[in-house]
Amino acid sequence: MIGASVAYHLAHAGWTDVLLLERDRLTSGTTWHAAGLMTCFGSTSETNTAIRLYSRDLYARLEAETGQSTGFRPVGLIEAAADTDRLEEYRRVAAFQRHLGLEVEEISPREMSELFPLAKTDDLVAGFHVPGDGRVNPVDLTLSLAKGARQLGVRVVEGVAVEDVLTRQRGAVQEVVGVRTSAGDVECDVVLNSTGMWARELAARSGLVVPNQAAEHYYLITDTIEGIDPNGPIFEDPASYGYYREEGGGLMVGLFEPRAAAWSVGGIPRDFSFGTLQPDWDRMTPFLETAMARVPVTLDAGVRTFFCGPESFTPDLAPAVGEAPGIRGYFLAAGMNSVGVLSAGGLGRVLAHWITTGRPDVDITGFDVRRFQAYQADDDYRAARTTEILGTVYAAHTPGKQLHTARNVLLSPVHDRLVAQGGLLREVSGWEGADWFAGTGNAAEAEPTWGKAAWFAQWETEHRAVREGVGLMDMSFMAKFEVGGADAETVLARLCSGPVTAERGKITYTQVLDDNGRILADITVSFTDEGGFFVVASDTAHGAMRDLLLRAAGEEEELTVTDVTRAHAQLNIQGPLSRDVLQALTPADLATEAFPFRTVRRIAVAGVDVLCARITYLGELGYELYVPADRALEIYDAILAAGATHGIRPVGLKALASLRMEKAYRDFGHDIDNTDCPLEVGLGFAVDWDKEFTGKAALLARKEANAAAGAPTQRLVQLRLDAPDPLLYHAEIVYRSGVAVGYVRAASYGWTLGSAVGLAFVSADGAPVTADWLASGTWEVDVAGIRHPAQVSLRPMYDPTSARVRA
Ligand SMILES: Cc1cc2nc3c(=O)[nH]c(=O)nc-3n(C[C@H](O)[C@H](O)[C@H](O)COP(=O)(O)OP(=O)(O)OC[C@H]3O[C@@H](n4cnc5c(N)ncnc54)[C@H](O)[C@@H]3O)c2cc1C
Repeated sequence: MIGASVAYHLAHAGWTDVLLLERDRLTSGTTWHAAGLMTCFGSTSETNTAIRLYSRDLYARLEAETGQSTGFRPVGLIEAAADTDRLEEYRRVAAFQRHLGLEVEEISPREMSELFPLAKTDDLVAGFHVPGDGRVNPVDLTLSLAKGARQLGVRVVEGVAVEDVLTRQRGAVQEVVGVRTSAGDVECDVVLNSTGMWARELAARSGLVVPNQAAEHYYLITDTIEGIDPNGPIFEDPASYGYYREEGGGLMVGLFEPRAAAWSVGGIPRDFSFGTLQPDWDRMTPFLETAMARVPVTLDAGVRTFFCGPESFTPDLAPAVGEAPGIRGYFLAAGMNSVGVLSAGGLGRVLAHWITTGRPDVDITGFDVRRFQAYQADDDYRAARTTEILGTVYAAHTPGKQLHTARNVLLSPVHDRLVAQGGLLREVSGWEGADWFAGTGNAAEAEPTWGKAAWFAQWETEHRAVREGVGLMDMSFMAKFEVGGADAETVLARLCSGPVTAERGKITYTQVLDDNGRILADITVSFTDEGGFFVVASDTAHGAMRDLLLRAAGEEEELTVTDVTRAHAQLNIQGPLSRDVLQALTPADLATEAFPFRTVRRIAVAGVDVLCARITYLGELGYELYVPADRALEIYDAILAAGATHGIRPVGLKALASLRMEKAYRDFGHDIDNTDCPLEVGLGFAVDWDKEFTGKAALLARKEANAAAGAPTQRLVQLRLDAPDPLLYHAEIVYRSGVAVGYVRAASYGWTLGSAVGLAFVSADGAPVTADWLASGTWEVDVAGIRHPAQVSLRPMYDPTSARVRA
């Protein structure tokens, strides 16, 4: 289905010299047995929502174009909220998706019964009705897409398998030159691997990590049920693990059980076609009983089929999409996590745009294939994570929820100290990071909640320690690269839009842009005393940054890129007293005149040679120490000992989030992404207009257009609620004088500012977003259906002149 959709959209984009190869027959992998739910409800991602809305629209109109029905029927969806946590979640989702154009309405249990009389609704809290959602026939849909592609000139060849992707070296990366198939070699310069559950093994042949894993996936179909409406809506009750719809005069009961099972971990049989798996009745019976109890008629109806088939899941429930690291022209679209049908149309459009223009037109940071790391390819890792990840499709997404399988993979060199101090550990791109600390000898415990939890007190204490005293934070998970070679300065200066030069001791905060002036990465580049560049990116951007660096050099240029992420711990001492603490451990002069903000020096700390950067992501005087991993523990202990008289505290990721949010520091992949231009997200100050860099022409054109208009017509603004109690997380809709103008991209709680704080992207509907426009409106934020007054600002609300940072 995915391959057919990309081929269809490539053809529509004008690329008709396209060959769609299918090992057996179209749909013979997973697609043939999908339940066919085409539902949009349930995401607070703009990209996912846009993809689903596009799919739904396409499936409704495709038959008129191709003559082949997709079987789309807009029978409607009812999503049941069985408890108050889910109600809160779905209200937030509904408000967000409504803003993006989805028609969705909250309904009562009685109204749910009227729409779907077979469900027991008396114990449900509420429901959400999406009248435009519906169902398709996945096989017909695939054939319709393939037919549409063929009509425009695409060749679809069945019974031919791709055995390998052929590449040649070009500079530091490879590029696609063809594919080896069971029927011979085919030349091509772009290849898309959309081989479903086989994608991992095909990608591995090219050295790529695509850790999608097939899992058992179930539905049951009952015998005929008297009087059932063939056009009745789809009913979903995630708390009962089930979805329900009419099928052949009976009911289909689909399942997302909380403990699932991986299938065929070592590799997928090459000849598995139109295959089914032996159902595991013993494992599934308790879940099945819970699901069937929601629609009691299913308990008496008799079972016509208990179906089990394989579907691919990834470790984080997001698909593997995009151009592969290190291989130009090798694209991926696999690991659909049970939503391949409802994603296929939109994803096909996104990929076709990406392939034909060289860049995506939606935020791809959440599903970028470059996020995967080598350890995720391990059989044990995939087997363990798959048991849990399938169930998260239907789990409540209450803040604080954690994944428990496949943990402790990457440990910071000071991990034991994080544990000993009662750190609440959570997964940070495979690393274990401490969210907050319960204190030495205390076990950190936290129940997921949408409200204020007991541990907010620890969070506040850590936040205030950094604002008023000093805190120590382990951020060893940050991605770190040493970049050298004769052309390093030339290449980095071209790659980065900021003023990167080989000037000893200088730290440059900069973005990497695409040709269109959109942000691809947000990094710091330092030139160290040794005469090399040191590049730091966030953990989520690790693989993408490595790939950007490798691709940056021309064929004749000499550039070396060494990933030193695990070789160096990163220990941050931050807060107004940080200089006093660090000075007690080093003979180096830390006074501002000798060691100003945004400079880096190699200094001795507690007798160990470390790279010390005077920089902050928290908005205070502070230092980041890059420490040899094998010396990290002794330095960590020495800092805590030296800081004891200053009240130093270990500080976790919750405080990191609240501190940086008060200062409105950006976080790529959370509040800024690849669709943003620096000028619209408040990063124009970081651009060096006096030099050439990738994306400059497009950025300059935008700058001139902004100057003519007065300001950009959409901008990232900082926002703060007036009242201290409501909490912001993400995706809350922002109103200006009663009109929805955008949504909160990321948020936290501002312990110093006194209420929830966020970064929101707002648009003035064609008018310039100026300080006057902000000041002349009244602002509100919708939190789960209630609007709360707010303040907005283009400048950071905390320390707008950065006086504290430069102190
Ligand atoms: C029980 C069940 C119910 C589901 N219900 C829904 C639903 O209601 N809604 C929804 O959105 N999703 C649903 N899904 C998920 C959906 O079916 C999948 O996400 C989707 O079909 C995946 O499509 P695909 O194209 O990625 O994979 P596939 O359909 O497996 O396609 C991959 C194709 O690649 C071919 N291939 C493999 N290797 C090679 C090679 N080397 N060379 C050439 N060809 C190759 C295979 O033969 C196969 O046809 C369900 C899944 C299951 C199992």
